[in-house]
Parts: sequence; structure tokens; C-alpha cells
Amino acid sequence: MRDPKDRPQTAGAVLRFPSEPARFHEHRQAALRWFIERCRRPTLREFDAWTEDLGAFIAQCHACGGTTLRLGDFDAIDDADLTRLKADLMARAEDPARGWRPSQCADCGAPDPSPLAAFYARYLPEIHSDLLLELIQGEGRVLRCDVYTVGLEGAPQRRFDVEDEAQLFEAIGAPFSLRGLWRRFIDRHHLDEALPFLKVQEGYYLGLRPYAETEVAADALFAQFEPWLEPRIGPERLDVITFLRDAEAQGVRIGEGEGYRAWLSSYAEDISDGALDPFLILNSGQLLSALGRLAARYGVRVEPSTREGVWAWLASGELRVEANLTGLLFQIVHEGRGLYEGLRRGFKRELLAVVEAAGLPAVLRAQLPDHEITIHDGHILEARRLDAARGARADLVELATSHDYHTAEGLAALLERLR
Ligand SMILES: [Zn+2]
Repeated sequence: MRDPKDRPQTAGAVLRFPSEPARFHEHRQAALRWFIERCRRPTLREFDAWTEDLGAFIAQCHACGGTTLRLGDFDAIDDADLTRLKADLMARAEDPARGWRPSQCADCGAPDPSPLAAFYARYLPEIHSDLLLELIQGEGRVLRCDVYTVGLEGAPQRRFDVEDEAQLFEAIGAPFSLRGLWRRFIDRHHLDEALPFLKVQEGYYLGLRPYAETEVAADALFAQFEPWLEPRIGPERLDVITFLRDAEAQGVRIGEGEGYRAWLSSYAEDISDGALDPFLILNSGQLLSALGRLAARYGVRVEPSTREGVWAWLASGELRVEANLTGLLFQIVHEGRGLYEGLRRGFKRELLAVVEAAGLPAVLRAQLPDHEITIHDGHILEARRLDAARGARADLVELATSHDYHTAEGLAALLERLR
């Protein structure tokens, strides 16, 4: 029981209220430090560009004072732009039925613990920073949503006052959603009288031929392209130009419902008619840089190839295989995605296959002591009995991915093929 002297002299919201936000603010700041230092930075250091989105909701119990933490599952948020993300987070934060806000205390089970703080973070590898959204709550609802960037060290940067994708991009130099940025870019420039370009990262430009009254006017607009491109092509190694409406004609492999018709739906008809013409200009080397960073986490090196198109050598241990990334690059940009995002979605299986294959020779040497294991041309495995002239040969990646050699049955089947 507290001393009545501690109580405000006059009962009522006006006098009681000022001390509460101050205490609340302290809790919130402590929660923010905890989220950054304990949740996000260790993950970012370990997983870098593979780091997944994370949401955390922290509530405090009225009855026992305990805090309840609920981590959010944000799969469905994948495609949202910043505006939709904010709206979605606010709806989830206000309604326990959406599965994020705890409906009871984890310690004592008392209902409706008070929200202390709620955070959502997505790592943006392009700027080596987390985009952190903090929902400021009070009076039983979300009062506002603040946006920060958080690097690997130091305090969070100042809050960014941004409403949509275009403002976010201008403030921090990277989009939350490239599809959202595409929409804002076209909204803003579809009536321009010059060709607009937007550099979304090094070697990755969006371009647009705006609406034109006549074909002659459209051609005149497009005549500005070469003078723009000419001085950049060499220094920025721009080697890919592709128009969204040409995807089908070029045979670009696009996932079901992932083409521009889905995420530029209000302009889709005009794009397919050629009334409006969005396009991309790229340095394909940027894809290999991004892949190099993603592959490093798996101990795989990415080395340049001299082949025509977008090819790279993937190397790990004794394994060295050449991969064709041309189709994937076109797929990524025609699906309106960033390079890291597209590679994470479209190339993880291949990277894991390389890891499995690279680990196999050591396993076989241990399992087949009466065999000599040799790797030819970086990827053909030969298992030769010491008393034989020739051994069984197989493609190392194919061997490693058609049998799970970490299990007894998988290993037995694999050895059977080589004996
Ligand atoms: Zn409790």
C-alpha cells in the first residue's frame, strides 16, 4: 500500500496523466534497446543478407507486473509497400485476434496485458541497415508509427518522417518494397514530358516512357534515351535493358501472379498496349556481387565467368561449377524485386546443393577407405577401387542432391552406386 501522500493531490486525468507517459517512455526505450541489441544485431551479424523479418510485441501485466513477449509471423506482409505495412501493423497491434498482440499474461494468465512496445524490422542489405518500425501506443490504441534505420553499431538513426515508398526511398536510399516504389515512380511520372529514370541501387535503374499523344511524340520522348545512356554505359557497366511488356515475347520465366499485371495492376492494360512503357537498365555484375555476399554465408565463393550472358563460377572445397543466372536475373527484375530479395527466393536451393556437393568427397573418403576419390573438372566424382584401373563416375552435384547422405539410408544408396 502506498502512502497517500504519494498520490496526486487532485484526482483526475489532467494531474495523474503527466507521470504515466514519462514512465511509459522509459519502458519503451528500454524495450527498443533490447530489441536492437538482443534480437536484431546478433542475427544481422550472423545471417547478414539472409536475415528474416521480425516483429516483437511487448506487453505488461496489470496483475503481476510481468512482461509478455510475442514474436510475430509476418509471411503475408511480403508484398506490402510501406503504406500497407504500416496499416497492417497497426491493425495487428490493436486486435489480439490477429495473433500478434498477447491476449493474456504469459506469467499469470491475467487477460489484456497493457501494450508497452511493438517493433517490426526488415533488413535492407543494400544499405547494410535494418528498417525498424516502432508502434507508439497509448490510450488503448496505436498513436503513431515511427520509422528508423538501425546499422550494426551505435544508436538508431533519427526518426524518418515518411508516409510512403517514394518518401522512404528519398530519405534512406533503399526501398522497403521495390514494387511499391515502381508504383510511386509511375504515379509521379506518367505524364512527364521527358523520360524519367530512378536509380534504385548501384547498377539498377527504373525507366519510363510516359504517355504520349501520338506515336511521333512517343518516339521523340524515346530519343532522349541514348543521350542519357551513352555516358553511363561504360562507367556503370550497364549491359541489360529490358521492357516490362516484352517479358512474354522474350520468354522470361515469371512465377504465377508475379508479373507486372499483378503489382502494377492499375497501369497493366496501358503497359501491354504500349501506351505507357516501363523498362529497366542494369549492370548484371551487381547480381553477382549480391550473390557473392549471400553465398559467403554458406562458404561458397562466386567467381566471374567469361561466358556470354550472366554466368558465374560457384566454388567450395574441391567443387567448382558454372551456373547460368541469365534467366534468374530477368525473372527477378520482371517480378519487380530487388536483387537480394530475388536471389534469396530464387537461388537458395542451388546454393544449398553446392554446399551438399562440396561436403560429399570427405564423407566418401571416410566411408570408402579402399577407394581413391578424385574430382575431375571441378564436378565429376570418380570413386576407384585401389586395385582397379577405372572407377565409377558421377556428377557430384547430382549425387549429393539425389541422396540425402546425412541419413543412413541415403548414404547406403549413394555408396551402392559407387561400389
Ligand atoms: Zn501477469
